[in-house]
Amino acid sequence: MKNLLKGYLQFRKDAFPQWKDHFKLLADRQAPDVLFITCADSRIVPSLILQAKPGDLFIARNVGNVVPPFGEMAGGNSATVEYAVEVLKVRHVIICGHSDCGAVKAVLQKKDVSRLPVTHQWLSYVEAAWQYRDPSDPMGDEQAQHTALIHANIVAQLHNLKTHPEVAAGLAKSTLQVHGWYYDIMTGAIEAYDQQTRKFAPLEDSTSG
Ligand SMILES: [Zn+2]
Repeated sequence: MKNLLKGYLQFRKDAFPQWKDHFKLLADRQAPDVLFITCADSRIVPSLILQAKPGDLFIARNVGNVVPPFGEMAGGNSATVEYAVEVLKVRHVIICGHSDCGAVKAVLQKKDVSRLPVTHQWLSYVEAAWQYRDPSDPMGDEQAQHTALIHANIVAQLHNLKTHPEVAAGLAKSTLQVHGWYYDIMTGAIEAYDQQTRKFAPLEDSTSG
């Protein structure tokens, strides 16, 4: 906590003055273009990865970057999607999974999480990833399997996202686009899921990025 307080004081002293005018514009309104849904993992820092400014990203985070299907577990996550699409009128929803994701690893290793009843229930949404595995993904060592399942989880959550009526309506009207991204912690590289070819490719090469 000491480090956090130190950081806060530094922010007030050095960083905030540089952003003062920007925050003045944002003080009573926001108009982000993007809803960014990612894992709660501490190593994922969306505004750093994308060099985004305050006000650019509306962010929802949870263990495993999950979007429960519409009608199930109508919690904060579903409300965030609904609010972002219906009220903020975001034009893009990005679901961003990442390398070394603990939630996906727990599912891959079939870890017994029964002593964590809420986590147990939540991870059932990640288990759905098994059915979205790309059969051409290498079935090599555990790390390759982990990456394949992380990819599949991104596809599974994209599928769930589209069950939300406001998302389906936005896609039908072409006022909204949805994207699946994979972020590699070690290299900082992002791959985007191509919904036509059903493959992940470098974000800079993708048309859906
Ligand atoms: Zn994760």
